[in-house]
Amino acid sequence: MPSSVMPTPTPIPVLPPPAAVSAVGLRKAYGDRTVLDGVDLHIPAGSVFALLGPNGAGKTTAVKILSTLISADGGQAQVAGHDLATSAEGVRAAIGVTGQFSAVDGLITGEENMLLMTDLHHLARPEGRRVAAELLERFDLTDAAKKPASTYSGGMKRRLDIAMTLVGEPRIIFLDEPTTGLDPRSRHAMWGIIRALVTGGVTVLLTTQYLEEADELADRIAVLDHGRIVAQGTAEELKRRIPGGHVRLRFSDPAAYRSAAGALSEAAHDDGALTLQLPSDGSQRDLRSVLDRLDTAGIEADELTVHTPDLDDVFFALTGPTAVPTPTTRPKEAVR
Ligand code: ADP
Repeated sequence: MPSSVMPTPTPIPVLPPPAAVSAVGLRKAYGDRTVLDGVDLHIPAGSVFALLGPNGAGKTTAVKILSTLISADGGQAQVAGHDLATSAEGVRAAIGVTGQFSAVDGLITGEENMLLMTDLHHLARPEGRRVAAELLERFDLTDAAKKPASTYSGGMKRRLDIAMTLVGEPRIIFLDEPTTGLDPRSRHAMWGIIRALVTGGVTVLLTTQYLEEADELADRIAVLDHGRIVAQGTAEELKRRIPGGHVRLRFSDPAAYRSAAGALSEAAHDDGALTLQLPSDGSQRDLRSVLDRLDTAGIEADELTVHTPDLDDVFFALTGPTAVPTPTTRPKEAVR
């Protein structure tokens, strides 16, 4: 057939990455207390997804449901293509879970914990020993391998927990508050471990109370509060939702403060701290305009700080009993 009459090849459709986890309308109640109130999640394979929320928001409950430890009262979910309701075994074979329900046994050594896992996964003993040694090495636990796990630091226990999870070569890992209670150095080490897992192709769902952690690690973030997802998106998308940008002027001289408050009448006042706060996008033009107005009035501020919205703003605006805080009552401003 001459090439001129060849049918035009159908373009290959660009498919979105398959979902590692997708959930619609997950519900859970204990007695008359609703803990999850219709949670939808879509986690693309190979990504890090953070479920961010305060204590009691329902994060662990969501992880327990998705890992088949408990059942939902309503809704549907697929994990690694397996339906939670009809293929719990398939889900369990594809996932690893670490965190508050850690499998680490403190009474036996790190190595023995690892060998229990290799036995559980039916690896022959020599193969099991090889895999255990490799993982202990990878997580910097070789020197401690013969010591009881109860003697390990918090960071070492978490590393052992993840090493044990990896014996089963899970494609999806649930990390329930992986860094809660860790010192800053161990927290950074854990972040490195999580990044390395994702580079290796694993999908990670992590829960956290730390905005910084979600910002550092996650491709997408869902903010969970009282069992509902109140916001979802990339860190940048969430930040864009909050008009939290402002400049803050601090004075040490009360008279200068009063004159400035008169000249910048739209500013929010804090008479106790002698500070003024004005909405601002942080641009050079915007800052120059504020400074020009101060110059015209012959006033000099002792300090000028520019605040661009961060995840803290999102968190405080979207969770908790209060609505969007006004600039003068913004909780974290008081502690900065
Ligand atoms: P988070 O992980 O975000 O801190 P959890 O999922 O652990 O939140 O808990 C959410 C809410 O559900 C909390 O108020 C908690 O007390 C309640 N809860 C969790 N498990 C149970 C249970 N087995 N029985 C009764 N209430 C529970």
